[in-house]
Amino acid sequence: MTFQGRTVEVPSAGTTPLVDARAHLFNGATVEDYRRSLTAGIDRVAARIAGTERPFTGITPDRLAPEISAVDLDRPLGDPAEALAELEDVYLRDAVYFHHPRYLAHLNCPVVIPALLGEAVLTAVNSSLDTWDQSAGGTLIERRLIDWTAERIGLGPDADGVFTSGGSQSNFQAMLLAREEACDRASADSPVPIAKQDILPRLRIIASEAGHFSVQKSAKMLGLGPDAVITVGTDRHRRMNPAALAREIDRCRREDLRVMAVVGTAGTTDFGSIDPLPQIADLCADAGLWLHVDAAYGCGLLASRTRRDLLDGIERAHSVTVDYHKSFFQPVSSSALLVRDGAALRHATYYADYLNPARMAKRRIPNQVDKSVQTTRRFDALKLWLTLRVMGADAIGALFDEVVDRATEAYDLLAEDPRFEVVTRSQLSTVVFRWLPPAGPLRALADEANLHAREALAASGEAVVAGTKVDGHHYLKFTLLNPETTLDDIAHVLDLLAEHAGRYVNDRTAAPELCRAAG
Ligand SMILES: *Cc1c(COP(=O)(O)O)cnc(C)c1O
Repeated sequence: MTFQGRTVEVPSAGTTPLVDARAHLFNGATVEDYRRSLTAGIDRVAARIAGTERPFTGITPDRLAPEISAVDLDRPLGDPAEALAELEDVYLRDAVYFHHPRYLAHLNCPVVIPALLGEAVLTAVNSSLDTWDQSAGGTLIERRLIDWTAERIGLGPDADGVFTSGGSQSNFQAMLLAREEACDRASADSPVPIAKQDILPRLRIIASEAGHFSVQKSAKMLGLGPDAVITVGTDRHRRMNPAALAREIDRCRREDLRVMAVVGTAGTTDFGSIDPLPQIADLCADAGLWLHVDAAYGCGLLASRTRRDLLDGIERAHSVTVDYHKSFFQPVSSSALLVRDGAALRHATYYADYLNPARMAKRRIPNQVDKSVQTTRRFDALKLWLTLRVMGADAIGALFDEVVDRATEAYDLLAEDPRFEVVTRSQLSTVVFRWLPPAGPLRALADEANLHAREALAASGEAVVAGTKVDGHHYLKFTLLNPETTLDDIAHVLDLLAEHAGRYVNDRTAAPELCRAAG
């Protein structure tokens, strides 16, 4: 056959005898293969995890892409052992390992073993949590965990929610519900009939400038205008300034704009800052506004025995995002959206004759699809269930507390180190800082030097750190989520960063024309 002028080989049908194909199906006749295959896979991963000396090999896409392109997907190996051996080369050898104590970059946590056990069980049984008739007990377990989380937040007796694929989806669904509520209210308030497309351009969401970008993305997906998200300023700790919020609420009222939601962030991605939720909740209550709290990062405090008070005010939210796959040490994916009034979830409800006809809802058949933007949906809740049943919430909270303590120590270390400048003490577990070139004209190289140091460090594979911008300048960021990361690890990584950055600046000064060219 030819495709775009090239002759391509089409695999001939029926080369694999059906009997062989059936041997790969997981069922009562193949459980021995299942045991053997998974044990071999677990052994490979265990060997990698035990033998990983660096969080990353520093491989570049250019070097890895040919390995993956070279695999002929139309010539199966037939044997899981061979496929696993191949996987070493295309994936396991060069993966980024979050369990390593010098992985300090993004909000990826090391995971707890009970959750891995849950993952193995849930994929094998393969329940789908859209309807009761595809999940049975899975649905009830998810509901218990939603109730448990809502209770920890303090959302009251009418609370409900649903597991989602992640914080972005949770935020999206929260904004969907808030939009629908705002449209309903706008219609009800209007003396003349008013079309939805006339309401949408006037809807606004207010978040802080340190809030998560999924709020802006959600606004776009929800058909709101380009100016829909108003970002208000923060204090020096990067917490939303409530006076600025009050001013924006007032301005919107004067300009006949409808604030459909205020988003408070409990743990900003860069700074780990928690917006002043009680004051924000007061302002929302006074103005009758939907308060969404994005606790994707900060939700781990729900399990903390010493820092739960940092989330005070979250109980007054209309909706809350939690990411168990960040601060509850769960594997991706595990997240939930909680709402104070379960009835609000009706905005995600559609009845399909073949799946969840309305009569099922009348008979109170518990179909979670009625509350979700997904249909077929993983039983991610099982991971959290086994975590709570094996370890308990206190143990999870203790792990999170430990990384928050470590971030405080790391801040102190940086504050005393003249090579670096550190932005602010985080309420959670991030540290944003930058290497400072010597005072004088070399200061102009600060941005490039920090960018370079981050890349050079990742290329060496010694450690992985993140980067971000503060007031237009490049900074480096640690996100600490691994209780195994010691202060020595952090000190060592700081030395490496200073070395890379210093060498960069020295190379530039040795070649002044380069320095000038860089401006
Ligand atoms: C990570 C994060 C999100 C997005 O969550 P995903 O699970 O990555 O989709 C949303 N909000 C905040 C504050 C986050 O840190």
